[in-house]
Amino acid sequence: MKKALLIAEDISELSELRAVAAELDAVEVEAMGPEDLQNTPALERFGLTRLYTSTSWSEDPAESLGKMLAELISGSGAELVLGVSRKRLKDVFARAAQILKSPLLTDCLSATWSDGELVVERPTLGGGYVENLVVKKFPTLLALQQRGRQISDLSGKAPEVVRLEGKFSGVRAPRLISSEAVSRSGVDLAKSRIIVSVGRGFKRKEDLKLAEELAKLLGGELACSRPIASDMGWMPEDRHVGLSGKWVSPSLYLAIGISGQVQHMVGVRNSRIIVAVNNDPSAPIHREADYSVVADLYEFIPALVRELKARSARPSG
Ligand SMILES: Cc1cc2nc3c(=O)[nH]c(=O)nc-3n(C[C@H](O)[C@H](O)[C@H](O)COP(=O)(O)OP(=O)(O)OC[C@H]3O[C@@H](n4cnc5c(N)ncnc54)[C@H](O)[C@@H]3O)c2cc1C
Repeated sequence: MKKALLIAEDISELSELRAVAAELDAVEVEAMGPEDLQNTPALERFGLTRLYTSTSWSEDPAESLGKMLAELISGSGAELVLGVSRKRLKDVFARAAQILKSPLLTDCLSATWSDGELVVERPTLGGGYVENLVVKKFPTLLALQQRGRQISDLSGKAPEVVRLEGKFSGVRAPRLISSEAVSRSGVDLAKSRIIVSVGRGFKRKEDLKLAEELAKLLGGELACSRPIASDMGWMPEDRHVGLSGKWVSPSLYLAIGISGQVQHMVGVRNSRIIVAVNNDPSAPIHREADYSVVADLYEFIPALVRELKARSARPSG
């Protein structure tokens, strides 16, 4: 690796990223960040050749910073661009990568050379697994998780400081035209002990009443798979469970008409008991459930509701 460019918000990020660049045997390292970075005591110990600074770093929108970064990468000839995986940085990196048509990997745990190839480790499927990816194209942008890596004193000359203002073509920032409140149910599913969750096995929105009645009888909350909230809009977004929704850990998770794709199941694996109701015996959810009911939900729910009502009507003892 010949040249690396580090994008750092502050000194701790600079130190972390410089340590990664050293591990990757970068022979020349430049950095870019807010103006304050040039006041870092003993800047020469970072072994940087150049430090690009910007006074408007924190106010500039991601659109302008992304364009500025893309121009800087092309101009400097950096092969590897490193940053700490934070929301804003990822936004900036995504825009720069899109302009340059370069690879971008975010939330990376580590990057190492192995047999001449750059191998990047990062979590996948909600953090349940780690994937190893081989980078085939450069320049490449890596947003790394901050893990407290520190440089040892690299010593060298103080870097040349280059102010970026006025050096790049501007970009117009987006304007907010209107906003709309997201519909929320106000329920915290993460704390629910009993959850009745519905999926695409339900044919019409009105049919959700069946599950609502069941949830009420069981003293539980209603939840759903992602398509029910995001695609159909039948339930509020904060009721959808899974990788991109709520992670739940109830005593009972009753999944009705849900196929059990991995993106759904990662959010429910901490449930104590999973019961699946699905009329397809080969549906993946049957392999993960503690109890499987292979039945048509339109027959099963009314039967269960009848039974629960009959039991509550019976005198106890
Ligand atoms: C990046 C990414 C993130 C995602 N995040 C999530 C997430 O957080 N949560 C999530 O849920 N999904 C998520 N998904 C989507 C996920 O991959 C699945 O598409 C989704 O979970 C499927 O929803 P479903 O089980 O309701 O529908 P389907 O997969 O269509 O399953 C419907 C099931 O209902 C059964 N069925 C049909 N009729 C009946 C009946 N009459 N009686 C009984 N059973 C019946 C069928 O046999 C089928 O198994 C994500 C996908 C991606 C790519």
